[in-house]
Amino acid sequence: MQCPRCNNNSEVIETRSQSSFIIRRRRQCHVCHYRFTTYEKIASLNLSVKKRNGNLEKFSETKMTKGVKKAFTKRPIKKDEFEDLIEAIKDSLRLKKKKVISSRAIGKIIVDHLKHKDVVAYMRFASVYRGFGSLSAFEREIKNLKKEQHVKK
Ligand SMILES: [Zn+2]
Repeated sequence: MQCPRCNNNSEVIETRSQSSFIIRRRRQCHVCHYRFTTYEKIASLNLSVKKRNGNLEKFSETKMTKGVKKAFTKRPIKKDEFEDLIEAIKDSLRLKKKKVISSRAIGKIIVDHLKHKDVVAYMRFASVYRGFGSLSAFEREIKNLKKEQHVKK
């Protein structure tokens, strides 16, 4: 990267990640030794979603956030906690390293995150995404969840 003072080349003298997707680099000019800082932000998700009917749609972070927010209606969650949760879900999506992902797979990722965060939000979201067809399916899910939490303790 060019030095903002003399336009000669600079080198990176220190790199550290500021958050999971922001990288901060200290740089120094080879010629005038001027030091400056740059920030790199990883671009937003470039992902296509395969819907249940087979249609492809561009992944919308806004839509995903809305869906998660809805699940948290009247649930106690702080703003930054919620933002961290959304970032964590996005990290999981990135880790899939896919260009096309099914809406079902996204739903599962979100459900897995919610499970550890808030049981009510989890159940709300899961009931929409998995489309529990009957009360017994819903009850089975609660039973499984209780079992899992028991194992963790
Ligand atoms: Zn310079």
